[in-house]
Amino acid sequence: MSKTVSLLSQSSGSASSESRLGAPQLYCYHNEIAPVRVVKHHGPNMGKSFYGCAHWPRTCGFFKWANESNEIRDLQLVIMEKNVIIAKLEHETDILKAEVTSLKKKLAKKQDLVDELSIECTERMLQMDAVFAKKRMTYALIMSSGWFLGYDMKFKAGSV
Ligand SMILES: [Zn+2]
Repeated sequence: MSKTVSLLSQSSGSASSESRLGAPQLYCYHNEIAPVRVVKHHGPNMGKSFYGCAHWPRTCGFFKWANESNEIRDLQLVIMEKNVIIAKLEHETDILKAEVTSLKKKLAKKQDLVDELSIECTERMLQMDAVFAKKRMTYALIMSSGWFLGYDMKFKAGSV
């Protein structure tokens, strides 16, 4: 994000210096502001603007056509816009990543709840099994004692 901010502040800074001078500022190899000059001698380039050395005619060799500098500036603007888009996408990616993390946390919580419920469910089933087993045992005892009683009575009656 700080990358975007610095880019934007840089662009607004250069934009304000451009609006004052009407053209982007370039520096010659002396690292001094290269003045914009116009070709005055007769020829195909007459009237064209160019950047030259600040110490003309003892030039450091720096030379750039003004329209070329505009092309460079346009390319720099395109790169800057792309960087802003990349920064935005990176920001969106961060938001999505945070969302995924929070959803994962929620899912983990839900999973814990499901685990708790399944443990509780198993415990209850075991309890119910125990109750049923007890009931079955009681029933079996009653039945067998009944059978024994019946057998005993039949035995006593001498019918066996
Ligand atoms: Zn120079």
